[in-house]
Amino acid sequence: MCTLAGVHLREIQIQAEPLERFDPLIGPEAAARLHAGAERAREAFHGRTLFNVNSTAVGGGVAEMLQPLLAYSRGAGIDARWLVLQGEPEFFRITKRLHNRLHGSRGDGGPLGETERAAYERVIAANAAELLALVGPEDVALLHDPQTAGLVPLLARTGATVVWRSHIGTERWNDEVETAWTFLRRYVEEAQAVVFTREAYVPAFLSARAVIIPPSVDPFSVKNAPLQPEVARGILARVGILLPACGVVEPALYRHADGSPGRVDHCADVVRAGPAPAEDAPLVLQVSRWDGLKDMAGVMDGFARVADALDGAHLALVGPNVAGVEDDPEGAEVFEACIRRWRTLPHALRRRIQLVCLPMQDRDENAAIVNALQRHAAVVVQKSLEEGFGLTVAEAMWKSRPVVGSAVGGISEQLVDGESGLLVRDPRDLDAFGAALVRLFEDPDLAGRLGRAAHERTRAHFLGSRHLLQYAELFAGLLGRERVAPAPVAAP
Ligand code: UDP
Repeated sequence: MCTLAGVHLREIQIQAEPLERFDPLIGPEAAARLHAGAERAREAFHGRTLFNVNSTAVGGGVAEMLQPLLAYSRGAGIDARWLVLQGEPEFFRITKRLHNRLHGSRGDGGPLGETERAAYERVIAANAAELLALVGPEDVALLHDPQTAGLVPLLARTGATVVWRSHIGTERWNDEVETAWTFLRRYVEEAQAVVFTREAYVPAFLSARAVIIPPSVDPFSVKNAPLQPEVARGILARVGILLPACGVVEPALYRHADGSPGRVDHCADVVRAGPAPAEDAPLVLQVSRWDGLKDMAGVMDGFARVADALDGAHLALVGPNVAGVEDDPEGAEVFEACIRRWRTLPHALRRRIQLVCLPMQDRDENAAIVNALQRHAAVVVQKSLEEGFGLTVAEAMWKSRPVVGSAVGGISEQLVDGESGLLVRDPRDLDAFGAALVRLFEDPDLAGRLGRAAHERTRAHFLGSRHLLQYAELFAGLLGRERVAPAPVAAP
């Protein structure tokens, strides 16, 4: 039974950030386009609020992107706000089922019938009751992912401009995908526009109002800002992932986005046999939520097959603390399954493979640790079985890391095989995955070249500036100043 009557939508406070920060990174022409787009959006919004709604404040790509995109929007003079809807375990079980099915995966195999619809709509109605008191007919709502889809018709009825964004999808349409869209269709087709990451993810019934906007990384966030190698090592020693140099753990400091100092205080929960790896041991890294589709266990198996050829490298499988991600009920189960698999490995391998849960108490502290890991890693992998767009791939590319990714979903467009990373055609082919790792360890020149090209590719296609400009064009169009059309973007 739903007990959400007294539900409180949670508002996440956003500090404004200046859009001009991008200018030196993107060059004068792109900067001029960005500022002209911001001007058009400012005129179009004039007195209206842009309400973003999703279902978690931390953990996962959507939360990761909302923070900086809304900060720059505020910096550009748009009243952009972020609300997190509140659910209950049954609601998140249903929405995780929808998430898995939209990726073409069976997930928990449970039903998506009228009982589930009723449970889903009860939570939606409880959240809508509060949201409708905030959103006026002149306002704009940007709703993210299946968790918020049910809000579309309720908000649209008020006269507000409603856009729904799906951050997930698969190009391999199957019965699972069909069941998810059957559930969601009646809600999302009432949106004035729907945003997808890739054309291939758009169902036919939404194609007339679909706009393609790929995700992006924020180069100035705590997660992606420059970090000196010794600072990165200090942070990793502090949380327990690396052996401290000379055995002494120093205070681990980083900078918040506003330049003020921050300190990493919390330790990670680490499953490992023996001491942490030494600073000079090469590290292979995957950072992901503990989600079956990220295939952490497959990374472990693939690494184990070729570990002898990897120059003494260690593997770190890193995810958020399993209690920390509000809308992901499968985390604990997937993490436990990884531990069980890890226990079956020979001791010598268990010494070289660590499973790490990062502290989630402080968003910036968590981001600083991820930044340190990605910068310290010799190779970053993302061996997902499905992936709408791999934000972790883009983060590692920005940090000039050589990346091995599965050729699935967005990753197959993010990495150009052999130019800006290595793609493994079949994500379940552990030998091919292992061979890609060996190739990078045997050819450091190749690894360096891929890393440099990866950074350049991210600068050209996957920074927040491009993302913001596309949103600005979309909203300016919807609010009536221009025709509704996706902003032209150079195809990656
Ligand atoms: N992430 C994080 N801490 C963690 C694990 C993941 O900050 O412990 C972040 C990661 O850096 C990335 C996002 O969560 O920014 C994951 O996005 P991605 O698109 O790779 O996958 P999603 O979780 O959206 O499926």
